[in-house]
Amino acid sequence: MAGKRDYYEVLGVNKNATDEELKKAYRKLAKKYHPDANPDNKKEAEAKFKEVNEAYETLSDPQKRKMYDQFGPDGPQGFGGAGGPFGGQGGYYSYSSSGFDGFSDFGDLGDIFSSFFGGGFGGRSASGRQSQGPRKGADLNLNIDITFEEAYLGVEKEISINRNEVCSTCKGTGAKPGTTVTKCTVCNGTGQVRQVQNTILGQMQTTRTCTNCHGTGEVIKEVCETCRGKGKIRKQTKIKVKIPAGIDDNQTVVLRGEGEPGEKGGTRGDLYITVRIKRNSIFTRKGNAVLCEIPITITQATLGAELEIPMVDGSKEKYKIPEATQTGTKFTIRNKGFKSLNSNAQGDFIFTVIVQTPKRLSKEQRDLLMQLAKTMNEQPPVKKRGLFG
Ligand SMILES: [Zn+2]
Ligand SMILES: [Zn+2]
Repeated sequence: MAGKRDYYEVLGVNKNATDEELKKAYRKLAKKYHPDANPDNKKEAEAKFKEVNEAYETLSDPQKRKMYDQFGPDGPQGFGGAGGPFGGQGGYYSYSSSGFDGFSDFGDLGDIFSSFFGGGFGGRSASGRQSQGPRKGADLNLNIDITFEEAYLGVEKEISINRNEVCSTCKGTGAKPGTTVTKCTVCNGTGQVRQVQNTILGQMQTTRTCTNCHGTGEVIKEVCETCRGKGKIRKQTKIKVKIPAGIDDNQTVVLRGEGEPGEKGGTRGDLYITVRIKRNSIFTRKGNAVLCEIPITITQATLGAELEIPMVDGSKEKYKIPEATQTGTKFTIRNKGFKSLNSNAQGDFIFTVIVQTPKRLSKEQRDLLMQLAKTMNEQPPVKKRGLFG
């Protein structure tokens, strides 16, 4: 998949394009590259047409667009990588412009083309295609809150989701075991009823969803008692999700095939988990860098010191600051920041020293400071007085 053109580039729009702009660009290009409109160089047009559709299919879906912006066209394969901590997880975190796969053969291009402009894409519209072949289940979305440390180290969480499961009594057919499912006689199993209407423009043929079978093309004589004929039951399910080290606030982890079950043998939808990271009292994040403030004393700042800096993973790093360090100075510890999701790079740990002015001094300390002040030709501090002098 490497070397794929940028989807925004394919559609000739900028990254902030609105849905309306995307649609407009898409329509224009789809018309231009439609193979029927290019009989002389059909092959090339088909390739372009496919590319345009793929780009639109991804960018017109807010969820997929977000994933695309996050991971690029090749998806977050970098997460696992060979030998990575989450390697070998198969479908986990994978991203693809799914949904287009079904159209890879252009056998019934005309049909596809008309359904594009019907407002929906492929099977999602009410154009009737939905009732026939297997259909992929719906995608599910949920949010998960994790701590800063968990985002840093990666974490496995068990989450509880409410989704449909295929009814085990009827294996999803909706029919009582032992009874049969018969073809709907009203629509002859197509799920669609054609109607011819006479209009001022002549005869118009329209199709609508069969009301007898509700578009399924099948009639159940005796319904399954467990699922009341739906073929599915809503269930609370626990699943484990591995959140990779380095994930940032509002990024998404995709679990392939953990969404709603498909129809008629279609694959399950996917589960999109948006990760939200709780605020931390010590550390903040900027890109892949970890930032924090380290308080130091005036003597440490003046004379230099070896500090122990707390790392996000709980360890400590020794760091020598030089003498005459000013408050607000930043120091960098390399490669102690967040891991990058897309490469082997690791961010830095950047701490800012804040010189603390002492608030309570012993008499001895105060005398020492007064002596110091004298040697620096300063006015000694005014002696503390009572409230009324
Ligand atoms: Zn059932
Ligand atoms: Zn029917």
